[in-house]
Amino acid sequence: MRHIVFIVFAALCCFTKSHALTPLPSPDEALQMLVDGNDRFVKGQVHHLSYLSDAKDKLLEKQNPFAAIVGCSDSRVPPELVFDRGLGELFVVRDAGNVIGPIEMDSIEFAAAALKVPLIVVLGHQNCGAVKATISGKEIPPELSNIAPLIEDALKTCDTVGKNALVNAIRCNVKEGVTTLKNSPTIRPLLEQKKVKVVGAYYEIATGKVTIISK
Ligand SMILES: [Zn+2]
Repeated sequence: MRHIVFIVFAALCCFTKSHALTPLPSPDEALQMLVDGNDRFVKGQVHHLSYLSDAKDKLLEKQNPFAAIVGCSDSRVPPELVFDRGLGELFVVRDAGNVIGPIEMDSIEFAAAALKVPLIVVLGHQNCGAVKATISGKEIPPELSNIAPLIEDALKTCDTVGKNALVNAIRCNVKEGVTTLKNSPTIRPLLEQKKVKVVGAYYEIATGKVTIISK
């Protein structure tokens, strides 16, 4: 009898905790939440300034992010600020050039499979230094020796000469990231079941605006 009481108590306890967090939105709803957050950011009407109050209680035992983001480490592009989201809402992987190597792939696959995020975003940005260095024609500096080859692969079918070379290259790099993620054996079945969406986006530093460039 004591065991039964314990099991019922434990079930109630877990049930309560699992519902303490907001249920995850659909992939389209998640994308709209990011679009709306970026709109608030551009207009200077951000909601998520009180991080400590967000973190209290509800995030102690579990996270429940609604989107995973692969973004650049560039200090001008912090996804939580750009999309006006709070703690526990975005699962973020950042590296110079927002490239996707084995470690970034594992992290995003974890977000998709274990955390069940409905949306994955590859976020490139205006004036990305890692992409700029890769297409400069100069020798690649040693600190980019693992990153530049991934960007070069992404640019094989891309026009990287002329006036729009850098913007084209940044966008191609994003699209390559989207393709790479869509081909993941972990993510592909989730895409087929419409449990997740993978999109590419471009952040314009001059305006703060994020544009979805690849769905
Ligand atoms: Zn960058």
